[in-house]
Amino acid sequence: YYASLHQAKVVLGSATPSIESYYNALTGKYGLVTLSERYADVALPAIEMVDTRMLAKEHKAKVLLSPALHEAITQTLAAHKQVIIFQNRRGYTPYQVCGVCGWVPQCRHCSVSLTYHKSTNKLSCHYCGTHYPVVQTCQACGSSAFVEKNFGTERVEEAFAEAFPHAKVARMDYDSVKGKYDHDNLIQQFEQQKLDILVGTQMLVKGLDFAHVQLVGVLDADGLLHFSDFRVNERAYQLLEQVSGRAGRKDGLGKVMIQVSDVQHPVLQFVRNHDFKALYDFELPNRQLFQYPPFSRVIKLTFRHKQSHIAEDAAHWVMKGLAANYGTFIQGPAQPVINRIRNEYLWEVLIKLPRNTKLIAQCKQAIRQQIQILQSDKTYRSVHVIPDVDVI
Ligand SMILES: [Zn+2]
Ligand SMILES: [Zn+2]
Repeated sequence: YYASLHQAKVVLGSATPSIESYYNALTGKYGLVTLSERYADVALPAIEMVDTRMLAKEHKAKVLLSPALHEAITQTLAAHKQVIIFQNRRGYTPYQVCGVCGWVPQCRHCSVSLTYHKSTNKLSCHYCGTHYPVVQTCQACGSSAFVEKNFGTERVEEAFAEAFPHAKVARMDYDSVKGKYDHDNLIQQFEQQKLDILVGTQMLVKGLDFAHVQLVGVLDADGLLHFSDFRVNERAYQLLEQVSGRAGRKDGLGKVMIQVSDVQHPVLQFVRNHDFKALYDFELPNRQLFQYPPFSRVIKLTFRHKQSHIAEDAAHWVMKGLAANYGTFIQGPAQPVINRIRNEYLWEVLIKLPRNTKLIAQCKQAIRQQIQILQSDKTYRSVHVIPDVDVI
C-alpha cells in the first residue's frame, strides 16, 4: 500500500511467493524482480523422490524410514555431516483406531481425534490442549486391539535413535521446545555439531541455515498434499521448498529425499525442479475455473456457539440478510470438517466476491451491519461471529 502511494516498486524477495502476489506482480500491481541466483551462490539441493507405495502395502502401514533414506543417512553420517528430518505431526501416534470396529478416541470438547504422547503417557487434543488417560478398551465394542495410525515426531525421534545407535538425535517441536532458551540452545548445539540428526515439525523450516547439513528427509509428503483447501498445492510447494532449502550448500552436495506414495503428484515435479513458475501455471486455470483468489475475494464467516442449532440459525439469519444484494456469491451455511472446538459448534458461510473494490467494500459494510443486528437479538447475543478474508 505504501509502495503504491509513493509509486515505488515492491521487490518480493522470496523463492516461494504466494500465487496471489505473483499474479499481482505479473499483472503490474507490484514490480517483479526475479531472483534466480541464490544468496552467496549456494547451490539448490538435488531432490529425490522415494516411492513408498509398495513398502506401505507390504507393511500395511505408512513408511517411517525407507531403505533408501536409511542408506543415505548412513552415508551422510559417515562423512561427518548432519541430517534434518521433517515430519509435520507432533506426538507419538497421531491417532489410534480400534482394530475391530474402527472407533477412534476423540476429545470431549472438540470433534478432533486424540494424539498419543509417549513422554507423558497421555492422549492429547491439539486443539484445546486437554489431556486424557490412555484408552485401553474400545468404548464402542469393548475390544482392546488398537491399531496405531501414522506417526509423529516423538515416534520418529525414537525410531531414528534405534536405527542409528551411534548418532545423536534430537527433536524440535512444540512439545520439546518450550521457549526461546530451549530453541536457541537446540540450534546452537546443532550448529556446533553436537547433534547429528534433528527431527522436527514446521518449527525447523524457517530461517535456519546450517553449514554442515547435507541431507534433508521428508518422511510423509502425502500428509501435505491431501487436504481439501484451495491453497493445498501452494502450501505444500512452499513448505517442501523451504524444507529443501535447509540442504542448500556451497559445495553443491546437498540432497533432499522425499518419501511419498503419490509420486506422480504434479506438485512434487515442481518441487523437484524448484520451479515456482510451473506451479503457478498449473494452479492459475483451476483458480479461475472455481473463482478462487486471485480471481475473487473469499470472505468466510464462522459462527460459534455452545448449541449447534443456535450457531446454525444465526448463520442462516445473516445469510438471509445478505441474500438480497449478494445472494449469488453466497455458499452455505455448512459445518466445517472440525465442527466443534472447546465445546463450541461451528457453522460457516462463504462469500466469494468478484475482484471489484467497490463491491467488496460494500459487502464488508453490509456484513458488519448484519452482525450488529444479529447481536442485538437476545437469542443470538452470545454467538461469536468471526470474519476472515481469503482464508479457508
Ligand atoms: Zn471397537
Ligand atoms: Zn479438544
